[in-house]
Amino acid sequence: MLYRDFGKTGEKISALGFGCMRLPEFEKDGKWYIDEEKAIPLLQSAYEKGVNYFDSAVYYCHSNSEALVGKALKSVRDKVMLSTKIPLGGEVQETKDYRKMLEQSLTRMDTDYIDFYHFWGISKDAYDNKIDRLGLMKEALKAKEEGLIRHISFSFHDDPKNIKYIIDKAEFMESMLVQYNLLDRSNEEMIEYAQSKGLGTVAMGPVGGGRLAAPTELYTKLTGKPAIATYELAFKFVLGNPNLNCALSGMQNMDMLEQNVKVASDENPLTEAEWKQLGESMEQIKKFSDLYCTGCSYCQPCPAEINIPKIFNMFTYHNVYGLSGHAKWEFGDYVEKGGKTIKDCQGCGFCEEKCPQKLKIRKELVRVEKILKNL
Ligand code: SF4
Ligand code: SF4
Repeated sequence: MLYRDFGKTGEKISALGFGCMRLPEFEKDGKWYIDEEKAIPLLQSAYEKGVNYFDSAVYYCHSNSEALVGKALKSVRDKVMLSTKIPLGGEVQETKDYRKMLEQSLTRMDTDYIDFYHFWGISKDAYDNKIDRLGLMKEALKAKEEGLIRHISFSFHDDPKNIKYIIDKAEFMESMLVQYNLLDRSNEEMIEYAQSKGLGTVAMGPVGGGRLAAPTELYTKLTGKPAIATYELAFKFVLGNPNLNCALSGMQNMDMLEQNVKVASDENPLTEAEWKQLGESMEQIKKFSDLYCTGCSYCQPCPAEINIPKIFNMFTYHNVYGLSGHAKWEFGDYVEKGGKTIKDCQGCGFCEEKCPQKLKIRKELVRVEKILKNL
């Protein structure tokens, strides 16, 4: 495993971080549980393979992630860095809610301190109207002084230019977690800015929400070396960015862990020339981003039971990989088995309110389904 200086936090972070939002789960009597028999060995094995950064959040895995992560890593607590997040929605209305939410996370994770406590998914508006207006930064600094948190961080879902606004205003921020991958480089400039200001930088969605599992010839074209899996190239690309300290992956099984560890341990990542060349090829790849759905499922459950991420993923097969036959077959199969489509939409707007990518989901469903039907 490769380790990098984590901004100016004084920490060394593993190039691969564990995103604890897709741990194996099962449903029983309408309730969701994490499959501990699979998830605990997975997290412990990640630690043994050198991963030292584990990123959770209150609502990950049907709100069970924090507790499971704390339990799995209890015996090595002082050797790993735990990250979690405070949501800034209805949960935080008053200044004192910061401490309440923090204490709840500490209890769930069964720990005395959190290494990186993030303001979760903030926008400029959330910064102004929650963090600033309620004086939450002061609360964070107090918690830091008391040793309840070690570093103050934020994750971000907004227009990239607002990252600068936040970094410049919130001088005590120590690390930043943003979306960044081969298909979505919109935050690249701000990652560089954050590094220049001493913040540690972590990428989420480094392999495009799993859309990059297919093999690619692109690497061969660029380097003349044998083709590699697209996810591997995607990972190499993210880790090839010198301003990026760590790439999170929401690993679900040992295979994924092993594949990712292999890439994150590669002493010979992309050369600077290859990295740049790959960047230049982005124009060609841009069409991939026509519909940038990460598969996060925040738009679910849709009251009309439309499986939005699944339909968008089928479109990706066609649009990104040119696997049109497969996309057509999958969509046909989905409809034949009673899968709901845009014609069932009740127009509630829930999905669009929740989508971090701000996709015009209903409009896109109309467009995408038409294409899939007519392939
Ligand atoms: S607007 Fe339509 S697609 Fe979106 S959540 Fe509501 S019913 Fe589902
Ligand atoms: S919330 Fe948006 S990005 Fe996430 S799965 Fe739904 S459509 Fe895709």
